Amino acid sequence: MSGYESKCITINRGRQDPAQVAAGRRARVTGGGSAVRYCCGRSARTIIAAVFSYGTWDSAEERGSGEKRRQRAGTGALVQVGRQTHGMDGSGGTPSERAGPANICRIVCSVSFIGFQKEDILATTMSSVVKTAKAMILWSAKATRLSRVVRDSRWRSRRLLILAYHGISLDDEHEWDSALYMAQDFFRRRMRSLRDGGYSVLPYEEAVERLYAGDLPPRAVALTFDDGMRDFRVRACPVLAEFGYPATVYVTTYFSGQRYPVFNIFFSYLLWKGRGKTVDLSDIVPRLGRHALDAGGRAAVLRLIRDYRESAKPDNAELAQIARRLANAVGEDYDRLCDRGILHVMSPQELAELPRFGISVQLHTHRHRTPAERAPFLREIQDNRRHLASAGISPEHLNHFCYPSGVHRSELFGWLRSENIRTATTCIAGLASRRSPSLALPRLIDTCNITPLEFEGWLTGVNQFLPRRRHDRF
Ligand SMILES: [Zn+2]
Repeated sequence: MSGYESKCITINRGRQDPAQVAAGRRARVTGGGSAVRYCCGRSARTIIAAVFSYGTWDSAEERGSGEKRRQRAGTGALVQVGRQTHGMDGSGGTPSERAGPANICRIVCSVSFIGFQKEDILATTMSSVVKTAKAMILWSAKATRLSRVVRDSRWRSRRLLILAYHGISLDDEHEWDSALYMAQDFFRRRMRSLRDGGYSVLPYEEAVERLYAGDLPPRAVALTFDDGMRDFRVRACPVLAEFGYPATVYVTTYFSGQRYPVFNIFFSYLLWKGRGKTVDLSDIVPRLGRHALDAGGRAAVLRLIRDYRESAKPDNAELAQIARRLANAVGEDYDRLCDRGILHVMSPQELAELPRFGISVQLHTHRHRTPAERAPFLREIQDNRRHLASAGISPEHLNHFCYPSGVHRSELFGWLRSENIRTATTCIAGLASRRSPSLALPRLIDTCNITPLEFEGWLTGVNQFLPRRRHDRF
């Protein structure tokens, strides 16, 4: 079975909509009670997996990305209460229906799902149980207005939510890597939810100062961006200007000022652009040969390119030639992609402009790495600082740091202090409090895989009380 086949179960008085079931990966159900009618002949084990695995349903404008998310997670749900269709994020229905505690019970009893690959059922079910429980808690907190109580509490007013973003797509990068990139409209909706929720978006540096001084305004949020890619200037800055929000961008400087893309992710992006094709790559890298660019084939090609880079150590000009030939092989124009700045770091000129837009530039190492030894680690900070200073950023303001890929260890703290680094951010999800170590501040890595309900849960602070995973890949 190819997975994600659309099926439907209903619980008591269940009513499926055959047209919807046939058309997509969703079904409408109503009910409450105990009788289960299973309409697609799956095993009891699959039923159990399905019951515990419904996901969230976003607003109509987000259904595209929501659909992809459910395909990845193998989950999906759309719940009908009375005449109204409800997403598990609380969308749909009348305000009283959204808020009524009785509906929570009814919704808990109303489930639809997507089928599973049988071999994936156990693993999927375990993570889905947690996701489902979290979604139910968040939805319940919202419906009962508990989330507002948390949002407006003294507890929340003593905490700072630091949001972290990576890329805002220039083109289709979010379809290539939805954990790294999001569409500009998606990002704009995030900023709109900050404004609509009355959140205080502070400059990061001011926010952490006030956090430790016990002087934060209610609902405090700070915005950070990692890596300093060109798309930040082109896509994120205009949206931030629309809302008048300040931000801090942590820049890795090695490729700044070079007309080269960040090769490792650029190769991955090019191969994704050629997805579904079978291409002959034998003249690109020795022993590469002919490959079908399905997911497995793309991973294999990336491994071979990586092995070649480690053994032959080609310089940037050679890597650019490899990228150019790879682009040709998959039917893309290397020069056009470079002219657009796809997966390029901002130039020194672009970096120099940022303070005028209320953007603070800070440190992220020169080569996006965290050496284990003191001397090379400090060299990363010093090279990073020197390149930013040569772009016109005042060196005395360069005293905030973000760990590449979130990799941090306590022995780094002393090394960072010796370089006058005052704060450092991680990829550990959470709200920062006065008790958070200033050199290991938590942040929420916001991606388009986080539902509006989850995002709101982080803004209000409810998510702080739920189990959460650590992100370590950026
Ligand atoms: Zn990074």
